[in-house]
Amino acid sequence: MYGTNTHTEKMTCSFLFSPHTESRIFQGNNCCKVRAYDSDVWSLRCDGLNDINNYESCTNICRRMSCFTSCHVFNDSIHGHIEMHPLLVRIIDTPQFQRLRHIKQLGGTYFVFPGASHNRFEHSIGVGHLAGRLVQELNERQPELLITRREILCVQIAGLCHDLGHGPFSHLFDGMFIPRIIPGSKWRHEKASLKMFDHLVHVNNLEPVMVEHGLVLPDDMVFIKEQIYGPLDPDPLNQEEKEKSFLYEIVSNKRNGIDVDKWDYFARDSYHLGIQNNFDYHRSLKFTRVCEVEGRNQICYREKEVTNLYDMFQTRNCLHRRAYKHPVTMAIELMITDALVKADNYIHFEGSGGRTFKMSEAIEDMEAYTKLTDHVFEQILHSTSDDLKDAREILQNITKRRLYKLLEKTQAESFSEVCVSVMDWGMNDDNPIDHVRFYSKKKPDHAIPIQQHQVSSLLPARFSEQWIRVYCKKTDAEIVDGGDTKPASCDPLHLPCRTFPDFNIDCGVLVCLCMFV
Ligand SMILES: [Zn+2]
Repeated sequence: MYGTNTHTEKMTCSFLFSPHTESRIFQGNNCCKVRAYDSDVWSLRCDGLNDINNYESCTNICRRMSCFTSCHVFNDSIHGHIEMHPLLVRIIDTPQFQRLRHIKQLGGTYFVFPGASHNRFEHSIGVGHLAGRLVQELNERQPELLITRREILCVQIAGLCHDLGHGPFSHLFDGMFIPRIIPGSKWRHEKASLKMFDHLVHVNNLEPVMVEHGLVLPDDMVFIKEQIYGPLDPDPLNQEEKEKSFLYEIVSNKRNGIDVDKWDYFARDSYHLGIQNNFDYHRSLKFTRVCEVEGRNQICYREKEVTNLYDMFQTRNCLHRRAYKHPVTMAIELMITDALVKADNYIHFEGSGGRTFKMSEAIEDMEAYTKLTDHVFEQILHSTSDDLKDAREILQNITKRRLYKLLEKTQAESFSEVCVSVMDWGMNDDNPIDHVRFYSKKKPDHAIPIQQHQVSSLLPARFSEQWIRVYCKKTDAEIVDGGDTKPASCDPLHLPCRTFPDFNIDCGVLVCLCMFV
């Protein structure tokens, strides 16, 4: 026995095997091999182990039985020491997940902010961790929600895998490169995340491992994918799904954009950019609660937190203005995009069945896509082939800091026919806080909206605006150093020619298409 506990291993095990504790998880294991992780123990608590002594006994016995030793600990620069469930580690230790080590979180921003060298790999681990934190906070605060260990694990997997589908330089690939090669394409990295997740599970034979850890297939595969992408099936939710609908708001919140994906990237990007982050997700975690709103359970916030949520969106806006859409970041991303477009026909990746795919075709074959990362930049830069000469020269210009020059930036209202860059709070013209519900200390289960005028009269009157940026592609010294902004000396426009009366520009400029993030 451990310490002064009065519960024997046998008693604990019989509890673990009770019908209330998803006993099938433990079937096939004898008492001494019972495996339980933090999430198991919390789950046990909500399923009936409410007595704190029982809970502590169970925890201690499990711990003494080395039940926690198979959890891996990651030392994360933002969240500190993170404990990862063995199934999550099995997912991380695959080529498809490791690929994210080679995709810059902020694409071309690294060429402007020297600290922004972080990758999708660490962000994904952070989102998996925060997804687990949020769902376990809710479970602890509201045991009546009956969140199961299986659901906790699925939420963590969704957090971990939500960005598997990103291409080279993250948003550059789906926001700028693919639309240039395939105009009108609806392909987005979220779609690829679903395909890559299926591929990862299949080629690494993880189905039996998932089942061993208590997941039910194929239902849980669908549940995980819907958390990443939104509903895959247009059928209305059944009663059980309505009660658990709040689980779909943790990793990617389509209702109001407040999710752990943002919480991680605000903290991580700010840290690496050297920009102060005024939003504290630790605090938000403490003031979340699930309430019923119009027949569905949704994540709500304590009413006094409304100003912090406004601050959160101000932080997002600040990161976009100062870093993600910094004019030099955009110039460099345009150059990388131009290079990738010019190289597309000449760089191939072997995919399934020995077939080869161009860069832009690799999105259709996950085996080929696994090999497509930021590495393509070096591949072009160090190439010797004549076919890649044009692309290579563009990247050489980046390394020599001979960049496309920003000619002028102005608010789009002056140019009614061209609207190219959107800065918003994530919901077009809408105020995202209008889509959040709050609860009060006195009525914790009663969800209420809070209008903007109830908060402050100093908040924004509009939640989106558009900008035009015009870049000159000529990178010779006369243009770059002399500040000559006359467009007549620039390369021909490759987008549909537009007239900019205030600039007297009719050709020779590239309109910068900022991405929607
Ligand atoms: Zn993300």
